[in-house]
Amino acid sequence: MKVPLLDLKPQYASLKKELDEALIRVAESQYFILGPEVERIEKSLASYLGGKYAIGVSSGTDALLLALMAVGIKPGDEVILPTFSFFATAGVVARLNAVPVFTDIDPVTFNIDPADMARKITPKTRAVIPVHLYGQCADIDGIISQFSVLNFQMQRPGQYVNQKTGQKICVIEDGAQAIGAQYRDGRMAGTFGAVGCYSFFPSKNLGGFGDGGLVVTDDDELGERLKIMRVHGGKPKYYHKVIGGNFRLDALQAAVLSVKLPHLDDWSQKRRENAEYYTRLFKDAGLAEEEGVLAFGKGNRVLLPKAVYKDVGPQNYHIYNQYVIRVEKRDALRGFLTGSEIGTEIYYPVPFHRQECFAYLKSDDADFPHSNFAAEHSIALPIYPELTRPQIEWVVEAVAKGLGN
Ligand SMILES: *Cc1c(COP(=O)(O)O)cnc(C)c1O
Repeated sequence: MKVPLLDLKPQYASLKKELDEALIRVAESQYFILGPEVERIEKSLASYLGGKYAIGVSSGTDALLLALMAVGIKPGDEVILPTFSFFATAGVVARLNAVPVFTDIDPVTFNIDPADMARKITPKTRAVIPVHLYGQCADIDGIISQFSVLNFQMQRPGQYVNQKTGQKICVIEDGAQAIGAQYRDGRMAGTFGAVGCYSFFPSKNLGGFGDGGLVVTDDDELGERLKIMRVHGGKPKYYHKVIGGNFRLDALQAAVLSVKLPHLDDWSQKRRENAEYYTRLFKDAGLAEEEGVLAFGKGNRVLLPKAVYKDVGPQNYHIYNQYVIRVEKRDALRGFLTGSEIGTEIYYPVPFHRQECFAYLKSDDADFPHSNFAAEHSIALPIYPELTRPQIEWVVEAVAKGLGN
């Protein structure tokens, strides 16, 4: 049985009529850049996410870049982020000639370790980028409590100011993989920071027919700046007090997203059910390592992803953009699964501190044990909503075989 990592065709088939109509509607309007389609999806997303300003942009990467520009990140500023994420999280910082400062991750959730973040704050720190990796919200409360220990208090949404020195640190959330994920009282991932950033890359839970992204903020001043900087910083047009870029979302993407958004929660719920089924099968097969244990033990067992924080509990709503297990002999397992026509991917094989382009930062590899472990042992299994139970059973059987069990 063939099981691709991701198959977008069943989703398209289920909404074909509406999607085709939306595309034709835009074609007939010949209104391609921003405009009413973009305004419509922005309004829907502001209400879905519970943010005051939702501003459509050209990609998740541009969402992050624009957010950093809007909060005023300058050359030499330090921006703290986990070393284990998609490249864009670090790339945008370096592109502004700011200094990426890496932290290790929490070994259970794969997200930023708040204690390590606190250790890496210096007088030059201007922003922190928690990533909600694989669709699970980072430990926002942990970050806030570290700020409070260091005497930083929230002065405006997601902006923390040191009560003695006046130093300001903005939280910019990378929610590219986490649209619809919740944390604490059902609040949406991406609405805790000064700016929340999302991606509509086709493989994300809400995917367009190409590139697209979104920034969200509750701050009036930032909301205005983000809007102006999305169109080169001109307001009125051709008069520039600030420098922005072309960060626009186009009408075709907006029209597609308007059709898909009403189905997002359903799709995420199906991903959760798939994840639960995997987890149950791995446990029933005796393949799962005990919860919380971070070594493989005897018999090539599997470390399963975990969707609960100790102190956050059931409010933590993981949307499983990815279902990532860790196994001892990862590359051998991947080879076996590829041979069995089961699609997998490694998210991500090389943490930032090991990337050639960041060698100039002279990071110490020993500072990031959990990220290194994740990079060496993680493998993502198919999790998309339309996956069938027999397919999931087949994948688990193949993993068992591939591990030699
Ligand atoms: C996908 C992704 C991005 C970038 O989004 P694009 O729309 O592809 O530019 C950034 N960060 C993370 C964690 C991502 O998964």
